[in-house]
Amino acid sequence: MSATETKELVIVEEALERLLRAHDPTSDRTTFWGAQYDAGLAWVQNPEGLGGLGVTPALQSIVEERLRAVGADQSNIVRNQMGYGMAGPTLVAHGTDAHKRQLLRPLFTAEEIWCQLFSEPGAGSDVAALATIARPDGDEWIVNGQKVWTTIAHVARWGLLLARTDPNAPKHKGLTYFIVDMHAPGVDVRPLRQMTGEAEFSEVFFSDVRIPDRDRVGEVGAGWNVAMTTLMNERAHIGQRVTREGSPYDLVAALWGQRSERSAVLRHRVVNAHIDTMLLRWLAARDAEKRDAGVPGPEGSIAKLLLAESNKRITELALDLTGLDGLLYESYAMTRPDEVTMGIDDPGKAFLRARANSIEGGTSEIMRNILGERVLGLPHDVRVDKDRPWSDVPRS
Ligand SMILES: Cc1cc2nc3c(=O)[nH]c(=O)nc-3n(C[C@H](O)[C@H](O)[C@H](O)COP(=O)(O)OP(=O)(O)OC[C@H]3O[C@@H](n4cnc5c(N)ncnc54)[C@H](O)[C@@H]3O)c2cc1C
Repeated sequence: MSATETKELVIVEEALERLLRAHDPTSDRTTFWGAQYDAGLAWVQNPEGLGGLGVTPALQSIVEERLRAVGADQSNIVRNQMGYGMAGPTLVAHGTDAHKRQLLRPLFTAEEIWCQLFSEPGAGSDVAALATIARPDGDEWIVNGQKVWTTIAHVARWGLLLARTDPNAPKHKGLTYFIVDMHAPGVDVRPLRQMTGEAEFSEVFFSDVRIPDRDRVGEVGAGWNVAMTTLMNERAHIGQRVTREGSPYDLVAALWGQRSERSAVLRHRVVNAHIDTMLLRWLAARDAEKRDAGVPGPEGSIAKLLLAESNKRITELALDLTGLDGLLYESYAMTRPDEVTMGIDDPGKAFLRARANSIEGGTSEIMRNILGERVLGLPHDVRVDKDRPWSDVPRS
């Protein structure tokens, strides 16, 4: 460990000690999360006063481990996934001082939930093709359009909105990034039901929604650059979920332990599931260790891809180990959960929910493209519409 690393570790240890001396970790969790933020232990890499201590982000996992060990609830990170993993880092990198001061603390305490309003019916993998329009009106913007698959929109207080402000510019250059008040007049959130029965995401319609210009993030026309910060952080955050939420392998191990009949074929699949899970944990640990403050690199896509593909295989194995009971699913009644988990305590739900892992946060094909182009340096995908005005490009 270098001298700087040792010094930073001591800073974090001391902050932890002060926090735990002043606050019972098992007391009211919202109050504790607020104290954790004030102690600089929310995102340790942030500047002091903004939930951090200005040290390497690698030390955040130590904070979480220590707090979990003394019984501190850390579920705010899971409950406010879009907030913690995406909105927080984006605001720190591109937000105004007022955004950072007002929004980061209630985000960390999960008093204000965030959602991500990027995808549209005609723009998912190719999100830069989006059609939701924001046009200026004095010191406000008026937004019209439709977003889709917006996770947790029904409980969100704020949304990260990517909208088109210049239809005549090429698609990546005509976008601007905003914070939108999900309670503003004209925002309509309609549930979309998944095959688990749950409606964890929604369609969101904007009809003449007014956004003050002070809630613009970054320059007009620079939305793509800001969105890349959000997306790179999203992938890195998804890759870390195995550390925070556990793995479906825990389910497989429990089912395997209860089983009397153990064929060689099943044993082979269980061993492979174990190997995938260990690889994922090591990848997540390596990513957390190597990560610099700011925007994570494209390497975050490796853990995201492995998590998506292995979760599908492992949850299928869990269902097979459950036998005929695996065919039963408790209820398809529609519920609107107020947080998103991998559902790993129930084989049926875990199996159904895992199908979405290779779509959400970017599909596995897109992850492979990123790894090919940006990590391995292979030739780029052909992009014929890249330099044409967005308004001239045919759309479905
Ligand atoms: C559970 C869940 C939660 C989500 N939550 C959110 C959210 O909160 N906010 C949000 O904005 N979005 C969210 N999404 C949307 C998600 O980001 C998109 O579904 C995803 O990016 C894919 O876009 P698409 O559905 O339009 O599929 P398409 O982009 O139409 O892709 C269709 C198929 O074509 C393949 N494909 C597309 N382009 C290429 C290419 N260049 N090379 C190779 N293959 C390609 C894809 O891999 C896929 O198999 C969520 C999705 C799911 C399933």
